[in-house]
Amino acid sequence: MEYIFYILVFIFGLSIGSFMNSWVWRTRENLGISKARSICPNCRTQIAWHDNVPVLSFVFLKGVCRKCASKISYQYPLVEAWCGLAFLFTALYHNSVITLPQLSGEIVRDWIILTFLTFVFLYDLKYGEILNFSTLLPGIILFFFSLGLGWKSWDSMLLGAAFGAGFFLLLFLFSKGAWIGGGDVRLGFFMGIILGWPNVLIAFFIAYLTGAVLSLILIGLKKKTMKSQTAFGTYLVFGTILAMFWGQQILDWYIGLIT
Ligand SMILES: [Zn+2]
Repeated sequence: MEYIFYILVFIFGLSIGSFMNSWVWRTRENLGISKARSICPNCRTQIAWHDNVPVLSFVFLKGVCRKCASKISYQYPLVEAWCGLAFLFTALYHNSVITLPQLSGEIVRDWIILTFLTFVFLYDLKYGEILNFSTLLPGIILFFFSLGLGWKSWDSMLLGAAFGAGFFLLLFLFSKGAWIGGGDVRLGFFMGIILGWPNVLIAFFIAYLTGAVLSLILIGLKKKTMKSQTAFGTYLVFGTILAMFWGQQILDWYIGLIT
C-alpha cells in the first residue's frame, strides 16, 4: 500500500509544478489565477487537457505548441519534474522518521514552503524581482503556525528573521539600494522564519558560496561579465532548501572540517 501513497504524492507534486508555471506567468501578465484554462503564451490558443499533462505532454509534443509550433520553454517540464520529486522527497524525508505513510503537518508545511520558494526562484530568475506576497505574508503565517504547533521556538525564529532581514537591510542602507533590493530584505525575513537561528546562517553561507563559484565559472566561460546582474534570490532559495533538510548535517560537517 505504501507505494501507492508515494505515487499519488508524486502525481500531486507534478500538478503543483504545472500550476506553478502558469502562476508565475499569470502573475507577470496580470491575469487572474482563477481564469480557468491554460493558453499558449505565443498564439494564445487554449491548450487541451491532453496537451497539458505534466512532463509527458512536453515529450509527446516534442517541445512545440500543437497549434503554432512555437517552442515551449524547458522551464515547463523542468519545474513540473522538480515539484514532483521535491514533494515526493519531502514525504519520504518525514516518513522515514515515523515509518508510516501519512500526511503529517510537517509534510504539508514543507510542501507549502517549497511552493513559495519555487515561486521566488522562478520569478527572480525570469524577471529579476522578488514579490512581497511570496515572502512577507507566508513568513508571518508560518511564524504563527510554527509557534502554535510547536515546530520552532519564537526566539529562534525571531533571531533568524532579524538576522536574515537585518543583514540585507544593512547592505541596502549602506549601498543606498544599489547592491540589494527591498525584495531581498523580505526574503531574508522569510528565510529566518523557515530556518530559525542558527540554521539561517547555513543558508546564507551556501548562497554566497554557490553564487561566487557559479559567477566565476560563468565569467570564465565568458557568459557573463563582472558587471552582470545576478538574481541573488535564486541562490538564497537554493541555500534555504538545503538548510531546511540538511542544516544540521552541513553544520556538523563544517565544524568537523575546522576543528
Ligand atoms: Zn501556440
